[in-house]
Amino acid sequence: MYIILLGAPGSGKGTQAEKLSKHLGIPHISTGDIMRSNPDPKIQAILSAGKLVSDEQMIEIVLNRLKEEKKGWILDGFPRTIGQADALKTYPAKVLYFKIDDEIVKKRLSLRRSCSKCKAIYHLENKPPVTPSVCDSCGGMLVQRNDDLAEIINERLTVYHEKTAPLIAHYRKEGSLLEIPSSGSPEETYSTIIKLIDTVI
Ligand SMILES: [Zn+2]
Repeated sequence: MYIILLGAPGSGKGTQAEKLSKHLGIPHISTGDIMRSNPDPKIQAILSAGKLVSDEQMIEIVLNRLKEEKKGWILDGFPRTIGQADALKTYPAKVLYFKIDDEIVKKRLSLRRSCSKCKAIYHLENKPPVTPSVCDSCGGMLVQRNDDLAEIINERLTVYHEKTAPLIAHYRKEGSLLEIPSSGSPEETYSTIIKLIDTVI
């Protein structure tokens, strides 16, 4: 089974992907992990300079990694362009699109805190630390990551919508897009996914 994930930062797709990966017995592959573990020194040089690899390089690296998985995969962070989507055409993949209001994303991310020492993630509403501002596991101070500041969130959402809109239209036209309403609780979202997976796939 082949599954592609599309969804805004803060849509919860990473958490859902982990659960789904266990449920289906196929790996959750994120392009961030693929790139970081790539042995090619040229690629590592590009990444450590904070630059992006070209579309062609990206496609080659991802396809090589996917070939290793015979039972299927859940792919996160790829495709980002129509060219990349075309490169996956040989796989009969379904696309899970995590649909969520921007306002809810903003609220979710603004309440997120992370430990300045061990990087553990907390959420002031859903997963608060026992002692305010202190990490439960290591006692480190909790801070708001730069990524989660309001202006940065707005910018990330704008970029996300610009880049993802063509892909959503592409997969919708192709008939492989499955919309997952993701504004509710993680449990609600997960049960929607499982129902869809059991009936459609
Ligand atoms: Zn900690």
